[in-house]
Amino acid sequence: MGGVFDPIHYGHLFTAEEARVEFKLDKVIFVPCRQPAHKRANDISAPEDRYLMTVLAITNNQFFEVSKVELNRPGPSYSIDTIKEFLKKYNHGVKIFFITGADAFLEVDSWYKSDKLIRLCQFVAATRPGYDLNKLDQKFKKIIKIMEIPALSISSTDIRRRVREGKSIKYLLSQEVEEYIDKKGLYRKM
Ligand code: ATP
Ligand code: MG
Repeated sequence: MGGVFDPIHYGHLFTAEEARVEFKLDKVIFVPCRQPAHKRANDISAPEDRYLMTVLAITNNQFFEVSKVELNRPGPSYSIDTIKEFLKKYNHGVKIFFITGADAFLEVDSWYKSDKLIRLCQFVAATRPGYDLNKLDQKFKKIIKIMEIPALSISSTDIRRRVREGKSIKYLLSQEVEEYIDKKGLYRKM
């Protein structure tokens, strides 16, 4: 599961866990991106902060891991490079599921080398409030697995806004991540 994870929240964690159980996955690897291809780099928190928050968020799930592949690779983070790296690491002996939310999958067409990417792994798109997967092109509908999840309209954007406005973010993300945000003073001015 790739993402900016700025910060990681229960929407991400629930989606990952649901996919793990539904598709009987051995594990879920969270891959924070270094530089999202679609956002400006100065709008996002330091890679180390996003990585550490992800580590804190997943500690109580033995099936969850975090990978630094994209953080260690210079330049924009292209999913296809990451998938290829994982396939190589596991000697092509694994099937990779790429877990996304509806909003991310609806844009997949615009991703770098998307035609090749969707052939290298099994895409899963979780429903997300405000995004309609029925709009998908037939060619994508045929090959992805749509996963209906109880609507969670939690987003990192909303969490960042809440911190800036002095509102509570408790129960939207893990307590450890909340404490990290507080301790490091993240999102207060953005
Ligand atoms: P931002 O608001 O900054 O874009 P975000 O909450 O969308 O943050 P991302 O890091 O952009 O989080 O998302 C990583 C992946 O998780 C994407 O595939 C996204 O669609 C999915 N995702 C995030 N939140 C949810 C949610 N509440 N329900 C389903 N999928 C989600
Ligand atoms: Mg997003």
